[in-house]
Amino acid sequence: EKHLLKIDNLKVNFKTYGGEVQAVRGVSFHVDKGETVAIVGESGCGKSVTAQAIMGLIPNPPGRIVDGKILFEEKEITHLSKKEWRQIRGSKIGMVFQDPMTALNPTMKVGTQIVEGFVRNQQVSREEAEKRAIEMLRLVGIPDPEKRVNQYPHQFSGGMRQRVVIAIALACQPQLVIADEPTTALDVTIQAQILDLLKRLQEEQELSVVIITHDLGVVAEIAHRMVVMYAGIVVETGTVEDVFASPRHPYTWGLMRSLPRIDGEEKQRLVPIDGTPPDLFDPPKGCPFAARCDYAMEICNQQMPANTSFEEGHHAACWLHDPRAPRIEDLVAAGR
Ligand code: SF4
Ligand code: MG
Repeated sequence: EKHLLKIDNLKVNFKTYGGEVQAVRGVSFHVDKGETVAIVGESGCGKSVTAQAIMGLIPNPPGRIVDGKILFEEKEITHLSKKEWRQIRGSKIGMVFQDPMTALNPTMKVGTQIVEGFVRNQQVSREEAEKRAIEMLRLVGIPDPEKRVNQYPHQFSGGMRQRVVIAIALACQPQLVIADEPTTALDVTIQAQILDLLKRLQEEQELSVVIITHDLGVVAEIAHRMVVMYAGIVVETGTVEDVFASPRHPYTWGLMRSLPRIDGEEKQRLVPIDGTPPDLFDPPKGCPFAARCDYAMEICNQQMPANTSFEEGHHAACWLHDPRAPRIEDLVAAGR
C-alpha cells in the first residue's frame, strides 16, 4: 500500500543526567495524500518528538532514533544528512510551530522570509519571488499584502504572525505540513481562524497535514484521522468519526471526558484524568496506562496489550478488547 508518509515502529531515546528516556517506544502510523492526521495526547506523550523525527529535527545528541523507519514517498528518510534534510524541509515538508515569534526572524522583512526558501529552492528572480511572497500573504488571508510584504514581524499581531509562518511553510509547495500545536499560543477566536485557514489550505492545495495537539476540539475541527499517544506508544488510532463515535481505549475515554462542553450558557467543568504518566526512564512492562486506569486487570500490569481492530483502520491497544485476556468467569472459578 502506498502512503505519502509511513512511520514504522519508531523509537526515539533522549540521554539525560538521570539516564536514557524512552520518549517514543515503537510508534507506527501513516499519512495519505490530501489527509489531515492529528497526533493527540498529553504533554510528554512523545507526540512532539515524533513530529521532530519526521522533520529530521531530533537534536543528536542528546536524542537519537534507536529503531524504526520513516518513509516519505516510499523512500527511507530516517537517517539523512543535515544537508539532505534541509532539501526535504525546503521543498517537500513545511513546518508550523506553536510560537510564531520563534519561527520568524525579527530583523528581516516578512516578504524576504517567505521569498528566501523559495529563491533558494526554485531558482527564480527576485522580482518573481516578491510577487510570489505577496501572493502567499494573500493566500493566507493577510489584508493589504503589497504593503505588509515589506513589514517586520513585530508589526503583526499574533494571529497574523502565525499566518506569515503558514505562508513560509507553504511557499515551497510542500506535499506535507507538520504543525505542532499551531494554535496553542493564540487566543480562542484567533485559534478558530487559524484552524479554518489550515483546513481551507489543506483542501485547496490537496496537502497532507500532521497536526500535533493536546486538544480534542482541534482534532474534531480539522483532522480526518487521529492517533492517540500515551507514554510513547499509540494507544488508539482511527478516523475521527469512528474514534469520537466509539472510543475504545480507557485513556481516550478520559480525554473525551476532559473535553469542555458548552451546554446552553454553561461551560461544563473539565474532568481531568487522575494521576500522572509513567516514568519513561524505566517504562512499565505492561500497559503504561494501568496505574491510572479504572478498568485495569492483573494482566494489564504483566503484559503489554496488543492492538485489537474495530472498524476499518480503527485499532486500540487494550486488554479489555483482547480475547486472550482472562475472563471474569475463569478468575472467579480460580477463586481470585
Ligand atoms: Fe486499562 Fe488494562 Fe486497557 Fe491498559 S490494557 S487501558 S490498564 S484495561
Ligand atoms: Mg510539545
